Amino acid sequence: MTMTQVVNPATEKVEATVELADAAATDAAIDRARRALPGWRAMAPGDRARLLRRFAEAVDADLEHLAQLEVRNAGHTIGNARWEAGNVRDVLHYSAGLPERLLGHQIPVAGGVDITFHEPLGVVGIIVPWNFPMPIAAWGFGPALAAGNTVVLKPAELTPLTAIRLGELALQAGLPEHVFQVIPGKGSVVGARFVTHPAVRKVVFTGSTEVGRGIMAGCADQVKRVTLELGGKSANIIFADSDLAKAAATAPYGVFDNAGQDCCARSRILVQRSVFDKFLELLEPAVQGVRVGDPADEATEMGPLISAAHRERVAGFLEPSTKVAFTGTRIDGPGFWFPPTVVLPSGPQDRILTEEVFGPVVAVLPFDDEADALRIANDSEYGLSGSIWTSDVGRALRVARGVEAGNLSVNSHSSVRYWTPFGGFKQSGLGRELGPDAARAFTETKNVFIATDN
Ligand code: NAP
Ligand code: MG
Repeated sequence: MTMTQVVNPATEKVEATVELADAAATDAAIDRARRALPGWRAMAPGDRARLLRRFAEAVDADLEHLAQLEVRNAGHTIGNARWEAGNVRDVLHYSAGLPERLLGHQIPVAGGVDITFHEPLGVVGIIVPWNFPMPIAAWGFGPALAAGNTVVLKPAELTPLTAIRLGELALQAGLPEHVFQVIPGKGSVVGARFVTHPAVRKVVFTGSTEVGRGIMAGCADQVKRVTLELGGKSANIIFADSDLAKAAATAPYGVFDNAGQDCCARSRILVQRSVFDKFLELLEPAVQGVRVGDPADEATEMGPLISAAHRERVAGFLEPSTKVAFTGTRIDGPGFWFPPTVVLPSGPQDRILTEEVFGPVVAVLPFDDEADALRIANDSEYGLSGSIWTSDVGRALRVARGVEAGNLSVNSHSSVRYWTPFGGFKQSGLGRELGPDAARAFTETKNVFIATDN
């Protein structure tokens, strides 16, 4: 039996020891999920909905406990962690509205009736990263369960605690056994088995583009369905006609939230040349104002990075030649801390502009006009999110339509709502989660023709 130690990233203390599943245990869980499928999919839609609603209520009753677990396991600020647990509750409530609304079509045909059904896929395997352990899990399991699938879920090895708790809450809420199972383990063991096991009919993966590419290739063997939510290098585009003070005051939060460990982080700030210097002047106090520290403290805005190895990776982006404009609060002592850091890139090929850092490091660069802004914003293999700051509504819409990314915000940095679709263009992903079509992604469309002629 392999065990892993769960470490608090703010203190480096061991919080818990968790048993890791091996391939045989994974196969056994997948088999239980397969056997639980007929009962779950046959359940009346209203009954499935009621159980998901009870699951949501159980999460709500446990919200503070879940949030505190995430503070200790992932180093998330308590404010963020409460939002994340609340997001799981809300995704479940939203999902509870889906079973009775999985509507098909009735299509006019000659000689009979034609109707479509949205059939569940079977067992769905969800692979979750460590950056948002709760929401990313729920975006998969809520709609997948609503559509009548059973779910096996692998949390990241570094952050299994809230997922394990959610598995317990599902059972307490009355979900039938084995309909939703959480299997802590290694990606190369448990995650890889989701890809190769023939009973798993879809893999939902969130994580690095590199691993996602391998999962997509692996799924091709069985023409297995796959949703990928991968990396990002999103642009925050600031025009001279914007409310520059507000754009500067909010820019740090668009990239440093969750210590920059966010696939939607606006890690490239593009500023119109005529206001470039002025913007940097305004940005400096905003960055220095970000409250970095103990994530359990209600006032804290940014905690530590997830691990020592990850901090080393982030630090590796700052080479001796890197031009650092300024940094925010630096914390010494135990914990995997990294200060908010603003970099002026050396040129378009600078790694800081092309690679996902996944830490609190942002690059700021100038552009000349609208066309130049779009050219730079789209000069990336990624296309997940982005922001546009302008007071010209026509420009806001033109640029929003022109940026090759799945989730854009104008005069704001918000990109995630459980009732709107989320996902990436280009190498940021494949497929969409959340929103009105969330459950459809976990179904096959079946067409049935019934002859009425004698
Ligand atoms: P990762 O390797 O892509 O891990 C994400 C998830 O996939 C984890 O649950 C991981 O398990 C699992 N996994 C790893 N290898 C697998 C395989 N061969 N087959 C199936 N599942 C596998 O990400 P990471 O190593 O944690 O982070 C590396 C970088 O990825 C980050 O620095 C960041 O740039 C990017 N990232 C992006 C996101 C995002 O939201 N887009 C999230 C996380 C990371 P283990 O926990 O056992 O490794
Ligand atoms: Mg990895």
